[in-house]
Parts: sequence; structure tokens; C-alpha cells
Amino acid sequence: MTLQDIINDSQRIVFFGGAGVSTESGIPDFRSVDGLYNQKYDYPPEQMLSHTFFVRKTSEFYKFYRDKMICLDAKPNKAHLKLAELERAGKLTAVVTQNIDGLHTLAGSKTVYELHGSVHRNYCTKCGKFYGIDAIINSTGVPTCECGGIIKPDVVLYEEGLDNDTVNGAVSAIASCDTLIIAGTSMTVYPAAGLVRYFKGKYLVEINRDATAIDDQCDLVIHGKVGETLDKITV
Ligand code: NAD
Ligand code: ZN
Repeated sequence: MTLQDIINDSQRIVFFGGAGVSTESGIPDFRSVDGLYNQKYDYPPEQMLSHTFFVRKTSEFYKFYRDKMICLDAKPNKAHLKLAELERAGKLTAVVTQNIDGLHTLAGSKTVYELHGSVHRNYCTKCGKFYGIDAIINSTGVPTCECGGIIKPDVVLYEEGLDNDTVNGAVSAIASCDTLIIAGTSMTVYPAAGLVRYFKGKYLVEINRDATAIDDQCDLVIHGKVGETLDKITV
């Protein structure tokens, strides 16, 4: 069966994606970030993106974060756009993403579970006041609230747990879909990657440039680019 056959035969598709979904928008995936980082920063990215690091070295955190985690020029690519189209057509029930770039929402998708949060939401750690991305990019050093508190991105850092409502929404979408498309993720970041075990539908599909540990569980594996692949689908 082709991907088109599977989509034609599905009514409740869920898309589970990772950093590879946004590389065609020019946002590097984790490994690429890692490579770039080594020449410029004194710590590995996993450490710089940890809760401890945010608390202890907030200004170093923001240096890396502004440089590498915020890509304001990036626009939704063909993958984001096709998924929004599938949702509008009533074929897709949810996008579950590990990305923090907000590109699914920008493309028009409505039901999006952002497991790792979003760079577009930020909160004061003292009074809880909400700030958009402007507060981060239009400030230097450590961004602070009117109340004097430090502003923190609503992004799940290493050592932090995922938001319960987001996880519950993602689990119930995955558990009730007929087709799960896993794309652009190395399936190595937990607990996010573990959520796909709730799938009990008909077709499990993977679209990924490189091979992953779940290849042999899938009904269809496409080793290619997710944007190029989805672009060929007729809704
Ligand atoms: P990862 O970097 O571990 O793996 C990306 C996978 O996508 C790789 O297997 C690669 O082969 C594949 N890939 C890259 N470009 C592709 C394309 N065009 N088409 C198909 N496949 C492609 O990513 P991950 O599994 O999401 O884990 C990385 C973590 O880093 C996540 O927790 C995520 O939150 C975070 N992250 C987010 C962003 C973002 O928001 N855009 C960017 C970098 C990292
Ligand atoms: Zn405040």
C-alpha cells in the first residue's frame, strides 16, 4: 500500500513529529545544533537546555537560546501546510509535536499538542505574567518582568516534566486514531517517543530521512523528506 492509499482509507489520522519536520523550513535539528554549538559554547546543548543550567547560569542559557532555539525567519513548509489541509478536510484529528517552533499553528493547524512547549509563550517565574516572543528577542541578557522576576520560556527543559494536559490530549488522540504517521524524529527523546505505544489503530507509518528503532514495527516506512513526501498527497 502507498501512503496515498493509507490516507484515502483513514478517517482519524494523527501525526507525531520531531525536529526533522522543520529542517525543510531551515531550522536545524538537534544534531546539527550540537555540531554548531561545539565551536561556540562551553557546554553541550543538553546541559545548556537543562533546568539546573537555567537556574544557575541564566544569562548563558539565554545566549544559547536566543542564538539557536529562536528562528523567527522560518516559515511553515510543505509538511506543515499539508497537515493543516488534512485537518480542514476532516481527515486528521491532531498533530503531536516535539518541536517548539510554533510552525504547525502558523500553518493553520488547530489541534496541536506541543509536548515540549513553544518559544512563543513565556512566563514570569515570580508573578506568572505572560510574555510573547518579543520580550525575549527585544531584550538582552536575562529578560525580566515588570515585577522584577525572571521570564522563563514555556519550553520543557531537560530535568523538567511534560505538561499533564498536553500529554493527556496527545495520548487520547493517539489511542483513538486509525492511522499514526511518525515523521522527522529519531525517536530517542523520552517520554515523548514513548507515547506512540498507545497506538492501536490500523496503519503505522514512518517518514524519516534516517532509519530508526521503530522501522520494523511500521506498516509503511518511507526514508525520505517529510515535506517532499506529504506534498505529493492529494487530500
Ligand atoms: P532529532 O534531531 O533527534 O532527529 C531528527 C530526525 O529527523 C533524524 O532522524 C533525521 O534523520 C530526521 N530528519 C531530518 N530532516 C528530515 C526531513 N526533512 N524529512 C524527514 N526526516 C528528517 O529530533 P527529535 O527526535 O525531534 O528530538 C530532538 C529534540 O530537540 C526534541 O525534543 C525537540 O523538542 C528539540 N528540537 C526542536 C526543534 C524545533 O522546534 N524545530 C529543533 C531542534 C531540536
Ligand atoms: Zn512578574
